[in-house]
Amino acid sequence: MASPTETPPFLRLPDELVIAITTAGQENHCLPDYSDWESRPKRLEAELTLSHICRRFRDTVSGACILWARVEIDFTRQGSIQLSQLYLQRSATCKIWVIMRTGHYVETQSIAHLVPHIARISRLYIAFKTYRALRALFRPFQDVATPYLEHLRIEDIGGEVPTPIDLPSQIGTQFRSLELKRCALRALPPWTAATTHLKLKSGSCLDSDDEAEIFRSVTTRLPSLTHLYIQLQDDRYTFDSGIGITLKFLTHLHLEFEDSDTPALLSTLARFDTPCLTHFNITGAHGDQIALLFNARQHQRSAGLTFPALTSLAFTHPTECNCDGFESQYARYQSISSPPRQLFPALSSLALINECFTAKLLSDLLGPHSAPWPSLRTVIVHPQEEHTENVYTALQNIVRWKRTRQETLPTFRLSSNLFGREFWEENGVLVELLGADEIIRAFGSVVWAYDG
Ligand SMILES: [Zn+2]
Repeated sequence: MASPTETPPFLRLPDELVIAITTAGQENHCLPDYSDWESRPKRLEAELTLSHICRRFRDTVSGACILWARVEIDFTRQGSIQLSQLYLQRSATCKIWVIMRTGHYVETQSIAHLVPHIARISRLYIAFKTYRALRALFRPFQDVATPYLEHLRIEDIGGEVPTPIDLPSQIGTQFRSLELKRCALRALPPWTAATTHLKLKSGSCLDSDDEAEIFRSVTTRLPSLTHLYIQLQDDRYTFDSGIGITLKFLTHLHLEFEDSDTPALLSTLARFDTPCLTHFNITGAHGDQIALLFNARQHQRSAGLTFPALTSLAFTHPTECNCDGFESQYARYQSISSPPRQLFPALSSLALINECFTAKLLSDLLGPHSAPWPSLRTVIVHPQEEHTENVYTALQNIVRWKRTRQETLPTFRLSSNLFGREFWEENGVLVELLGADEIIRAFGSVVWAYDG
């Protein structure tokens, strides 16, 4: 046992370990989410906590500039500006992330301390309450170049009518990723041309013909775009004007239909031309819309639709809609006549997560009346709770059918309530457990955060 005068082992840790522990304590704070800002508890900053333990820890932690490179300024919180000064000073010459949240007003002098450090910013997140406050924040950026800025996220938390934003005009060549939340998309300045990642959430585009035309014209000026996330709000909008959107080099697309009973999935997709798309996530579409999409080539308006490079297709639904529990909804489902091999000639992975009509979809695509679909190697299934037994029965029938025909079974990655059944083992079927982290990733919140 250590004597009262002896230094406890924890305090004898080498400097490198102290820094490693501090870094580990920061890991969950990488990407702020402003949606829960009001209710979230005050962050427990590992760098501040550890630097208060003893003098040696303070010297070690405060001397490691990288630990202070995430600078947060909440203009509505007392003491936040003073604390950000400490971070700016201790981050020394490191590149920094700057996260700012405004009230209704921002005084120009309250960001004077940030101006000498603007050139070090690599990521900039702004949550603003009023456009007046946003303009005040951007003012110094009009005069100082940001050669390292690679990611810009702007979010309206004030609920104003979306208004065009004047983005700063001097951004360096490192810029790659733009996120707009509840902001109107308008013409982008030339420095955005190298953007590879674009994320538009809540009322940003495609909700009317005018918005679709703006979106089309903006994307034609983003020739390097590879990743796109769009949240669509208005389910009645069906692109009747025929505005086509060509994204030549897009590899990853995530469409999210928000609060929608009948998303216009097929008519929306029929407007996209994405010859290089390999990964496609769709959130919020119902099973009957998925069936309609899989039958797309039977319909005159979408007969030419194809995703020639698509290998991974995931459908996720955020709530238990239970459409297949209602007779009226059931009538909406039109059976899939054959696997959509022309629509998705390269598809190897299909995910149905929390989707209604999952049992019907699986039976139509892989069951006793279906044609073979040999390219499909992985099927990921997480059914709605209510329909677990129906889906289990459908999967059993598929396995028996494929066995009878001596066809190769795809690998099934199943949710825990399906995975644990004896049937798989008794019949020598290889199944894998679908991890919770994989489900979260499929919804896109992590996958689509810019991490380049
Ligand atoms: Zn549904």
